[in-house]
Amino acid sequence: MRKALNKYFAAIAFLLGDASLKGGFLVTCKGCRRNIPIRMSEFPFRAFSVDCCLCGQRGRYLPSQVQHGLPDRLVQENDVADKQMRSRTRNSDLIDLFH
Ligand SMILES: [Zn+2]
Repeated sequence: MRKALNKYFAAIAFLLGDASLKGGFLVTCKGCRRNIPIRMSEFPFRAFSVDCCLCGQRGRYLPSQVQHGLPDRLVQENDVADKQMRSRTRNSDLIDLFH
């Protein structure tokens, strides 16, 4: 019995670890049909609206339409570009301080 429980907890730990490694909750955009992140830390149990970060279309989704996984490659590239832009802005702010 104890062995079975240990296996059970190991499986849960594996799933949780896996989940945190493999992105978050996604929906398929009704505009561009790509997987976009809904940026919620908990599973949404009610209908909700999301603005697509790629095509800008606002869609209303049901919990049954939520998937778990990695967003579309374009979203990931946008995120990277966003971060680079922000760090660049921060650097130029610093330069402005010295002038
Ligand atoms: Zn879209």
